[in-house]
Amino acid sequence: MRILLLGPQGSGKGTQAQRISSTYGVPHIATGDMLRAAMAAGTEVGHRVKPIYDAGGLVPDDLMIDLIRDRLSHPDAEDGFVLDGFPRTLEQAEALDDVLLEIGSPLDVVFDLQIDEQTCIERLLGRAREEGRSDDTPEAIATRLQLFRDATLPVIEHYRAQGKVVGVHAAGTVNEVFNEIQEALEQVGAR
Ligand code: ADP
Repeated sequence: MRILLLGPQGSGKGTQAQRISSTYGVPHIATGDMLRAAMAAGTEVGHRVKPIYDAGGLVPDDLMIDLIRDRLSHPDAEDGFVLDGFPRTLEQAEALDDVLLEIGSPLDVVFDLQIDEQTCIERLLGRAREEGRSDDTPEAIATRLQLFRDATLPVIEHYRAQGKVVGVHAAGTVNEVFNEIQEALEQVGAR
């Protein structure tokens, strides 16, 4: 099962992706986690992305596309994955479609986690207090949500045109949202 999660920052993509990953036994591929690991390890990529990341900006498409192409070629992603944080731009979406076409395994479903922006902001500020992520400052949060509207909403439309998008009510509890996702996955599996 190849699953993509889309939704604004604070919509719960990471949390739901982990639940999907452990329930269905597919790897959780999160570009934000990959970048944080690169920064923590002090790699060249890590140094390059740190200022962009901290400001809440978007890392250049070519770098992200190389990163994801490499990750999807690992054997654990052969039978499926749940993708979180990529693609965030139309260019990334087209590159992902090409990579998946090459390996003959297109996305099965794209979940659109729908939630109001105020709830997202409250969740992100709560997370900032708990985890101290360097991009959870009010300024970087505003930039990230703006980039979601400008760069990532067109990605949802791109996949809607492919008939792959399933909307999910993302303001509920973790269990409520996961139940909705599971019901949709059963229907996708059955089709
Ligand atoms: P969030 O969705 O809450 O912003 P992520 O962990 O998914 O959190 O991403 C954190 C940051 O990593 C982004 O603000 C951006 O700087 C960078 N990033 C992650 N994925 C991408 C991507 N696909 N394209 C560009 N930048 C990305």
